Amino acid sequence: MEAAQQDIQAVARERVAAAREAAEAWAARPVAERVRVLQVAGKALLEGADALASLVHEETGKPLGEAFSGDVLGVADLFAYWTAHGPAHLTARRARIPALDMPGKKGWVERVPRGVVGVISPWNYPVALPMRVIVPALLAGNGIVFKPSEHTPRSGRFLIERLRDQLGPLVGIVEGAGEAGAALVEAGPDLVHFTGSTRTGLLVARRCAELGIACETELGGKDCAVVLDDAAVERTAAGIAWGIVHNAGQDCASIERVAVHAAVADTFLPRLAAQMDATAASVPELVTPMQREIVLGQLREAIELGATVVCGGVPEGDAPIPPTLLTDVPRTARAWTEETFGPLAVVEVHDDDDALVRAANDTRYGLGGSVWGQDTGRAERVARRLRTGMVWVNNHAFTGALPDLPWVGRGASGTGITSSPEALDHLTRPRVVVVDTSTAIEPWWYPYSDSLLELMRALIERQRTGGIGATLKTLGALSRRKKDLSR
Ligand code: NAD
Repeated sequence: MEAAQQDIQAVARERVAAAREAAEAWAARPVAERVRVLQVAGKALLEGADALASLVHEETGKPLGEAFSGDVLGVADLFAYWTAHGPAHLTARRARIPALDMPGKKGWVERVPRGVVGVISPWNYPVALPMRVIVPALLAGNGIVFKPSEHTPRSGRFLIERLRDQLGPLVGIVEGAGEAGAALVEAGPDLVHFTGSTRTGLLVARRCAELGIACETELGGKDCAVVLDDAAVERTAAGIAWGIVHNAGQDCASIERVAVHAAVADTFLPRLAAQMDATAASVPELVTPMQREIVLGQLREAIELGATVVCGGVPEGDAPIPPTLLTDVPRTARAWTEETFGPLAVVEVHDDDDALVRAANDTRYGLGGSVWGQDTGRAERVARRLRTGMVWVNNHAFTGALPDLPWVGRGASGTGITSSPEALDHLTRPRVVVVDTSTAIEPWWYPYSDSLLELMRALIERQRTGGIGATLKTLGALSRRKKDLSR
């Protein structure tokens, strides 16, 4: 094994072990105390809000306004939400235990932390994405080891250094490219929360399965916007242009396909193209040269296969890829089948709602989708037919910033749930605690005899018929069983 790889594996093991040790004491503290520590940690982190936004802007190239709105503002909301509402969702649930045949028993279902959560993140939202996992995971009593993207290392380091001021080794970091992420997995955290491409996510999930580590994945997307015949043309064009172009299309829930009703296509498409053209000057270059090659490859292939360029197109030389809209793209083209992750979208025009829904669902991905129409009841019905984790009517993707809503996909978009009380289903495990105050021998214990069979049959009949007669019969069978046991 290469020395560098050995080093990173040793670092990962040390960070996981340190976080695990710290997490034991952390999880034992009452949740109200954890809330207080996290409130202080959140305030300390946000004192550096300007510096953090500048780092995100420098490392990703996204406009400073997007660095604030997409990354830093969300951190403030996360701490506020989880410290206010998290404890209620961590409260133990009293279990229902039937008193008739199981008297004297009390039961609870508690949420206990996993232990150490390994958080592996991409570069497109280098602050918001990891923090949506880190804040609730810590509140739930876990330790954290974070592997930021190699393309945004300074934002990742900034986050962890600030958090460590309050939380010490409960929060760790492993830095580097893919081998650092792999080392974190090998170090054996109790849960891996992976956000990134479908290709890498499947590799990570497979390795976690081999190692017996729980894994949740938030992967790529191929979102479709469905434009119904009663869509409000101007607002829909503005919203979909934003959905395609913001962060230069480097958003897992970017709009990459647009399915338009034929009745509105002639007025809508020129407006959408105009909106996209208007953004061209402010769209940054893609973050990596490899990503540029993927987007250009899809664009060139689609054109070779007969696509019509509505706006944008292949740039001159090294110029940034302009916001681009294509029609007449065959469904075999990668621009239709694969995630693009750039400012490029494919348009299809159809005559009825069924065909629009079929177009939207023609993908292995299932992250988000939107339906645009002024009859919101009808749009909502169409939206529920999309096979995605999230559907929005007359908007797209903005809910990633809302801590109360899960960010969730289906199919090749992954198994994870980020944000919302539902995320605690991954970040914790249920623990059953049952206390028996009964002093009697249980009816299902030895010795077995006919009275046990009679009792079982009476219990089934009671469930089946639910009548008072069946309850009386059960009480009779119980008393005969008790007599039998006391002989
Ligand atoms: P990526 O898969 O290349 O990398 C993601 C992270 O995994 C990085 O930190 C990387 O270093 C690490 N990694 C690489 N190889 C690894 C390995 N073998 N083991 C462990 N970790 C490894 O993704 P990217 O290019 O950084 O990000 C873009 C992708 O992320 C897009 O596909 C996008 O759709 C997806 N994404 C999804 C969501 C979501 O919530 N569903 C959010 C943002 C981005």
